[in-house]
Amino acid sequence: MKNPLIDLEMKVSDLLDHETGDWNREALDENFFPGDVEIILKKKPVPSVEDFWCWKHNRSGEYTVRSGNWLALHSMLKEEFQEAQMQPSINCLKDSAWHTLTSPKIKMFLWRTLSQIIPVANTLKARGMKVDQLCQHCGLQDETLNHLLFTCDVARQVWALSNFPSPMNGFHPESIFVNFHYLFQMSTNIRVPKDIRCCFPWILWFLWKNRNKLLFEGSEFKAEDIVHKAYDEAAVWFEAQKLDREGEKCDNEPVSSALRRWSKPPRHWVKCNYGYVWNKPAKMLGAAWIVRDHHGDTILHSRRSFADVNSKQEAQLVALRWSLDSLAAHRLDRIIIAGEDATLLKVIGRPKAWPSFTSEFITLRSCLNHFTSWKSKVESRFANRCAFSIAKSAHQLQWGQSYVARGCPQWLSSLFLDDKG
Ligand SMILES: [Zn+2]
Repeated sequence: MKNPLIDLEMKVSDLLDHETGDWNREALDENFFPGDVEIILKKKPVPSVEDFWCWKHNRSGEYTVRSGNWLALHSMLKEEFQEAQMQPSINCLKDSAWHTLTSPKIKMFLWRTLSQIIPVANTLKARGMKVDQLCQHCGLQDETLNHLLFTCDVARQVWALSNFPSPMNGFHPESIFVNFHYLFQMSTNIRVPKDIRCCFPWILWFLWKNRNKLLFEGSEFKAEDIVHKAYDEAAVWFEAQKLDREGEKCDNEPVSSALRRWSKPPRHWVKCNYGYVWNKPAKMLGAAWIVRDHHGDTILHSRRSFADVNSKQEAQLVALRWSLDSLAAHRLDRIIIAGEDATLLKVIGRPKAWPSFTSEFITLRSCLNHFTSWKSKVESRFANRCAFSIAKSAHQLQWGQSYVARGCPQWLSSLFLDDKG
């Protein structure tokens, strides 16, 4: 806000020009900095509805537990993030922690260890808490993170049993940063077998868990159990990554399955595939729609181009709105609206889940009101290729006038035949 004295009761509707239904430029200039005014102007207002709440931490505008958790975590760790920025010398170590091959939970543990915010005796004391400073396991030295993870006798035994190569002169007695630097370096040493050099995050994690077990339950794991647990969990995690990668590979394989092909609408319905091509530098949009019946025969198709379309989001909206208006003008009904733009098709299918898109929905709702029945369907590019190809031609030829024709264009007849199957 630009003005130090602001009206706390101010609503979005106070910033609108109710005659034009658009933003009141004067009111915006009065209250916001120029950069913010530009951002606001890009968002189409919705003057016909009361102000409503929008959750700004995801695209749809609807609150989700996932985005809530994300925000909670970021707010919680704000101090830590600031501290990290102020300590460039260990930032590269922290960076390595984020890039370590391990689960997110353990990455966070490594990062918190390097940030010295894991609650061991000496960090708690530094925060003014009265605690027994000695290591609960050996009772010989102060409990620091470095002692716990590297130099206490249980840690020494675990590292020795793990076969992880030891530093020439043993782990550094004081500096956890030196020791982490060594671990990160060793983890990239291809002369050491991968399962050994990559197990260190789990070893550190189970040393920490072991310390908590002793503190809260009064018992400890044996050193060899800690090593077994670390290797077992690491193996399970690496196996899961392998499966994930294989899954992704399957998802990305070229589309040949019948599932991704264009499908005919059921009897008594027609299907309208619409497509668009937007050229950012020229701000040009080419759009097309095709209506086919349950035999797969083309009833009508149309194409046209639009100038001065400023964003991809606007292009998507213009293409869909034009298609719907055209279908209504041709008195078509019982329509399946199919396209590649998953967002807008989901918005019209379930507007309450997408409050950020209320303006777009209100625009589209007035078009959809012309139909007694309609459904929406998200298509792959392959299934939508006919509409996409015509949109491309409309863009290239810059057909400013809407062009409607019966049947399908001759030059694409083989694609249409292929779709029909
Ligand atoms: Zn100890």
